[in-house]
Amino acid sequence: MPQEVRGVVALAKGEPVCVETIVLPDPGPGEVIVRVQACGVCHTDLHYREGGINDEFPFLLGHEAAGVVDTVGEGVTHVAVGDFVVLNWRAVCGRCRACRRGRPWYCFDTHNATQKMTLEDGTELTPALGIGAFADKTLVHEGQCTKVDPTADPAAAGLLGCGVMAGWGAAVNTAPVRQGDTVAVIGCGGVGSAAVAGAIYAGARQVIAVDVDERKLTWAGDFGASDTVDASTEDVVARLRELTGGFGPDVVIDAVGRPETFRQAFEARDLAGTAVLVGVPNPSMTFEIPLVEVFGHGGQIKSSWYGDCLPERDFPLLVDLWQQGRFALDRFVSERIRLDEVEAAFDRMHEGGVLRSVVVL
Ligand SMILES: [Zn+2]
Ligand SMILES: [Zn+2]
Repeated sequence: MPQEVRGVVALAKGEPVCVETIVLPDPGPGEVIVRVQACGVCHTDLHYREGGINDEFPFLLGHEAAGVVDTVGEGVTHVAVGDFVVLNWRAVCGRCRACRRGRPWYCFDTHNATQKMTLEDGTELTPALGIGAFADKTLVHEGQCTKVDPTADPAAAGLLGCGVMAGWGAAVNTAPVRQGDTVAVIGCGGVGSAAVAGAIYAGARQVIAVDVDERKLTWAGDFGASDTVDASTEDVVARLRELTGGFGPDVVIDAVGRPETFRQAFEARDLAGTAVLVGVPNPSMTFEIPLVEVFGHGGQIKSSWYGDCLPERDFPLLVDLWQQGRFALDRFVSERIRLDEVEAAFDRMHEGGVLRSVVVL
């Protein structure tokens, strides 16, 4: 029987989000209903509300979540009722051309639930990143559920589902940072701070945090950054060179995703160095560079989708590292809020005062 629960919905472009009654169908083949325990507030949720992703309103927001499997559809074998899971938005298919070539982190045909959740009047909802977890329960594909240690705090574990994984993975999987590398991370919110932690885990000898906000530089320091550059007062490229013996870092990760920050990443890296774009640009942004600079600088320019992660490999690993005291995952949780406080949390995120607000259900 379909069930009704509460969910945070963006009804129209730019309008404040609101808590609505949403209707979940029984899970179909390969589908799972998850009782959400916690879901982090991410910039992407705000982008949906602002119409920056697409126009498929109304959106059911929320996508950095952990919870317990509530009901499973026919043929589900990947998880069982009662499993504690972190939700992911790239459930790899195993059959597309990327998967078949052994590069599933690029999967071009990722899975989501095929049935739709709706408003009470039957209007179909578009779940954010195929998840929609600012809700008491949500409907996803079984592959979107990754089992992790059930003793982990859901508020922290859920953050692996998006921003933390993206940042950590940009350093560890995409760059990838090697032992002895010098690394800079531009933009030290949730994604950038996770990149700092990932770079240290990967063996960087020096990790330089760059931001315009002093609070974020302090957070990056808490995650182990060895140096900081205040981009509101300092010349970022010159300062990064100065801090690395005049050469520039081996790896520069742009966790902001604007033309000016990507230019800093492109220019500041050492000869043959790597620039990684993990911050998500908006469609109007362009980046122009003389081709001779691309050639002359050498090295690599990479983008990082979801940290080039494999949820089944990386989520349990990061929970284990956290529980061993080797990765301060819980430090990303700035505050715990209720479902009806998401709109206010957007304001605090925009203002820069929090790493992550987490809705706890
Ligand atoms: Zn695939
Ligand atoms: Zn996100």
